[in-house]
Amino acid sequence: MRRPDFDGQWQELSEEVLSGMKEWRLQHPRATLGEMEAALDERLAGLRRRMLENMAEASQTADWREAAEGEKPVCPQCQQPLQRRGEQERGLQTQGGQTISLKRQYGVCPECGVGLFPPG
Ligand SMILES: [Zn+2]
Repeated sequence: MRRPDFDGQWQELSEEVLSGMKEWRLQHPRATLGEMEAALDERLAGLRRRMLENMAEASQTADWREAAEGEKPVCPQCQQPLQRRGEQERGLQTQGGQTISLKRQYGVCPECGVGLFPPG
């Protein structure tokens, strides 16, 4: 499995959130508690979305490129192993009601020609 650099990425992400929040607070010295909460939620929601993207992309990459023969995704119709056709952006809805955008690997069945994103 490709080793995702979560430490580096997330360190950066959280620093962005923290310094962004500090910045905001300095620019809004008279903010109400509700405004602070909204500003914080907005940043945390962004952090959540990007962490989800990172994790989902890492498992997707692990699923296909490193899969052993016989474990590669197959066409649900013909049971033929899909041929990789690169990556495409795909929007997915999260439980938090946000849309995250993932680069998903896309495959085509050599038998019937159907193209699909394998689950993962
Ligand atoms: Zn097929």
